[in-house]
Amino acid sequence: MSADCIFCKIVAGEIPSATIHESEHTIAFLDIAPVIPGHALVIPRKHYANLFELPDDLGNALLSDVKRVGEAIVSATGAQGLNLGMNNHEAAGQLVMHAHFHLIPRFDGDGLKLWGQQAYESQEAMMALAEKIRNSLS
Ligand code: AMP
Ligand code: ZN
Repeated sequence: MSADCIFCKIVAGEIPSATIHESEHTIAFLDIAPVIPGHALVIPRKHYANLFELPDDLGNALLSDVKRVGEAIVSATGAQGLNLGMNNHEAAGQLVMHAHFHLIPRFDGDGLKLWGQQAYESQEAMMALAEKIRNSLS
């Protein structure tokens, strides 16, 4: 547990949450300020700041619980789809520094645009960036 982490306090039961699901490694609860009602967060019980700190061997448990909770949200809300998102670091919009997945139910024609897109300056620029990223894989 990390002192002053609001999600650690939810895991510890020190502050209330609309809990949906609890498993050995994760808990899931409704986001207090939903993009769309039913918007939920799946978080590891242990404190890891973001995706890059999550241990690989937690992957199966996290993905399995994300799928399980996602299916339940879709079923309970009557949604036609579900967005899965994760903000990592402040620049990406992360406000709570305890790793978490956002599950957002989506409805045909709900009009929600999650992010805008843009074109690369050129095909060469795109290929050069792909090569740079490939070379950065460790
Ligand atoms: P992020 O910007 O990815 O760090 O998202 C943090 C999310 O946590 C936001 O969508 C908040 O609405 C949500 N949140 C913050 N405090 C609580 C809380 N006490 N219970 C439920 N959700 C919360
Ligand atoms: Zn925490």
